[in-house]
Amino acid sequence: MRNLFCGVGLLAVCWCGLAQAQEFTSLADRSQAVLAALDADALIVTSAEERSLDSLSLHLQQCRNYPYSETASGVHGSRILIADLRQGLETGMRCLSGDGPMGRLHSYHEYQAHRLLLLFEARQAKTVKCVEDAMFATAVATGPRGSSIEDPLYRQLRTVEHPAIVIDTYRLGGVLSRQFDDETYRSFFHLADSQIIEHRHGQPLRPANLHRYKNRSGLLFHEVIHWLGHEHSALYPDLAHLYETCCFAGSDYIGDARRNREHQETACDILRDDELWSSSHRPYRQMRLWHLKGYDAFKGRMRADYDL
Ligand SMILES: [Zn+2]
Repeated sequence: MRNLFCGVGLLAVCWCGLAQAQEFTSLADRSQAVLAALDADALIVTSAEERSLDSLSLHLQQCRNYPYSETASGVHGSRILIADLRQGLETGMRCLSGDGPMGRLHSYHEYQAHRLLLLFEARQAKTVKCVEDAMFATAVATGPRGSSIEDPLYRQLRTVEHPAIVIDTYRLGGVLSRQFDDETYRSFFHLADSQIIEHRHGQPLRPANLHRYKNRSGLLFHEVIHWLGHEHSALYPDLAHLYETCCFAGSDYIGDARRNREHQETACDILRDDELWSSSHRPYRQMRLWHLKGYDAFKGRMRADYDL
């Protein structure tokens, strides 16, 4: 809530700023400059476990085995991560600006694209950290208001400074956790004792029923939207979810292309709703509209279509 109020003051300032900036450099040109800077060949080695892009003050920590905790590819994971982030920003920024295949959205989202660009253009250090089998989530991002000790992912979030993303390459790759006890492996995952030993001490298992995230660029765009202060909620518009669904063709967890297209269209329709987004400066009214229009049930309907 506080965040939305914060946005009120910024809204006027930034829309003016956007108009001024456009006299000199368009949003598209500024996006192009950031995308050009996301160049894997420009990565420098800042320590054994860190690669950095100086021009964007972007630091990638422990990402050698990104994306799926496989070590055999021969390509340093940081290079793949930069390519994924570049793809995510390219698709996401075009979509928010109304230049993507889904057409025009409400201008509020163009303003979000502008805010995201400002963040990438700033000299402020940005971090993407990779961990292996260290949390239950695939990825988590910091927000401008800091992390609460109540957050179940606080243990990971406290290790990085905002703005940052932590990615678990075990969860991203659908690798079975090594943290369960033997009884769980036996009764829940139906592993034989020899498999349990191999899983714990040799190559970890990658069961077919654990999801391997394919649309990584969509996931990374989702995470950087959290940097703007947009958090998940059922009570008010969930922008990270709406943007990923509208701009990146539905959900990674839904295999049915037709259902995904329908969800994508619904998300984009919500992002075009003038009444809803024109109320961005009136959080209570926007929250009521979100509920009255039934948009709060959208995520649940999508979840019902998940493959697993
Ligand atoms: Zn999220």
